[in-house]
Amino acid sequence: MCATYGFKNSKKGIKSVKGKIKDQGVLFKTTQFRESSLILRVFLKYRGLVSILAKGIRKKPENNLLNSLYTYDFTLYEPQESGLYLLSEFTLLKEFNLFDNIPAWTAAECAAELYTQIIISSEENPAYYDVLQSYMDYLKIRSDNSILLWWRFLLRIFRMLGIAFPLDLCAVCNKKKLQIVAWEKDTGRLICAECLKEANYPEYYELLTSSAAQILHLLPVIGDYLDKLHPDSQTVEQLNHLFSDHYQNHFRKPLKLHSLEVLSQFFQ
Ligand SMILES: [Zn+2]
Repeated sequence: MCATYGFKNSKKGIKSVKGKIKDQGVLFKTTQFRESSLILRVFLKYRGLVSILAKGIRKKPENNLLNSLYTYDFTLYEPQESGLYLLSEFTLLKEFNLFDNIPAWTAAECAAELYTQIIISSEENPAYYDVLQSYMDYLKIRSDNSILLWWRFLLRIFRMLGIAFPLDLCAVCNKKKLQIVAWEKDTGRLICAECLKEANYPEYYELLTSSAAQILHLLPVIGDYLDKLHPDSQTVEQLNHLFSDHYQNHFRKPLKLHSLEVLSQFFQ
C-alpha cells in the first residue's frame, strides 16, 4: 500500500523545503489543517518527533490508510530550518489494530504521549524508537493487564533518561530488600520496613498496598505474571503516583499523562 502525492508540482510555491528524505515512523496524531490537508505528528526513527504537512490528503483515498499508532515508511521533503516536513509518499509497514481492546490501545497512547513530553537527543532517537516498537509488539501479543506492561515500559524509559528507578533498593539503608513497604511522598524514594520503623517523620511516607509492593518486586519479570496479577484501583493509583513522584524528583515537573488517566479507569 503506497500513496504518492503530486508534490513535484505543488511544492513550487513553498520556499522553505530542501531535499527529499526517507525515514520510518509511528503516527501519533493527525490534526485537520485547512479544508483538505492534515498535519501528522510522527515519531521518526532517525529524526524523532516531527510535524508533517500532508497537503490535500483529505480529498484522496490514501487518507483512509493513515491510522494512529500505525508505522509507515515516509518519503518527506525536509524543511530548511525548523518547520513542517512535507509528505511526498508513505507506505504502511506495521498495523496496530487493537481497536477492540481499548485498554491495550490506551497503554500504547500513554507511550506516545510520554514521547511528546520528554527530551530525546537526536542520536538517541533510534533507541527510543526501537523500545516503542517492541512495547507495541508486546501489547499486541499480551494485551491483558496492559497497565503492568506500561509500568515496565516506563521503567525502561526512566533508565534511558538516566533516572533509573531501582525497585528493590531501600533509599535509606541502601540495601537490596525483598520487601519495600512505603515511599517518601514527593520524592518517590523507597523505604524498607526496618528503616520505616526508625524514621523520624513516618508521616512523610505513604504505605504501599500489599499488591503494589508485590508488583514493584515483580515488575522486572512481569511478563511471567501478567495472568496472575490483577491490580485494584488503589494499587493503580499508588503506583502511578509513585512513578510520577520519581519523575518529578528529577525533572521538577509531574508526569501528567491524560492517556494514563484513561487507562487507569479500566482498573476500578
Ligand atoms: Zn532500609
